Amino acid sequence: MKPVTFVEVITPCTPRGEFHYAVFDFDGTISLIREGWQQIMIPYFADELTATPKGKHRNPQEIWKLASDFVEYNTGKQTIYQCISLAEEVEKLGGTPLTPQAYKEEYHQRLLERIDGRLKRLREGSISPQEYLLPGSIQLLELLKNKGITMYLASGTDEEYVFNEADLLGVTQYFNGGIYGAQTDYKTFSKKMVIERIVRENSLAGPEVIGFGDGYVEIENIKEVGGFACGIASDEAGKKDIDPWKRQRLIKAGADIIIPHYGDLPSLEEYLFR
Ligand SMILES: [Mg+2]
Repeated sequence: MKPVTFVEVITPCTPRGEFHYAVFDFDGTISLIREGWQQIMIPYFADELTATPKGKHRNPQEIWKLASDFVEYNTGKQTIYQCISLAEEVEKLGGTPLTPQAYKEEYHQRLLERIDGRLKRLREGSISPQEYLLPGSIQLLELLKNKGITMYLASGTDEEYVFNEADLLGVTQYFNGGIYGAQTDYKTFSKKMVIERIVRENSLAGPEVIGFGDGYVEIENIKEVGGFACGIASDEAGKKDIDPWKRQRLIKAGADIIIPHYGDLPSLEEYLFR
């Protein structure tokens, strides 16, 4: 017996089965290389807020909540948006903010320290890409490829890193539609732009597009063009269960189904294609 609970159906009536294009988010949806980024960003931002004239007198829990709220709110967009919010909040607390770009560079430096070992082990081949892939990712990509579906990768992480990390995980070849990441000029890229372009250039009707993502941004964007949205409520550290917080946000953003990963591919395939 297949576990009937693997695919949680949120909107049973959304058309499915005739997909020709698939858009994937990267971090938390395919890649686990950057797992734990929140544990780097939130403490760093909380420190910056605490260092402001008014922040000094605030309760540390209140500061933490403030930082996690705007970090979470902007999750899925390019990192720079979280840094823009930080600069605004620093100003509100009477501080003189750095530029959002400077915050982004510092954050990224700290994150690289955390994930450097992972990248190194993947590069050397001393660890299998499987360790940093959401369970069943390769099998899902193979399945979609065999169905002739054109695949796109659209990430809020800077493009050079997405190219490199997709290579290290061995998934580059599947994205025959292209791999898109954030640009230094952040206004020239958004997931929404990528999705709208796919729809426009191929004169698509929405139901031909399926999107996979663990952030509300991509789910919203897919729904806006009338596509089918798979919400991946991945528990990135444990790789097994549903992350209840992600699940709730993904449902709110309009996800048609919720899955924890692609570990039970037959159930997913049956729901999406039969
Ligand atoms: Mg993500």
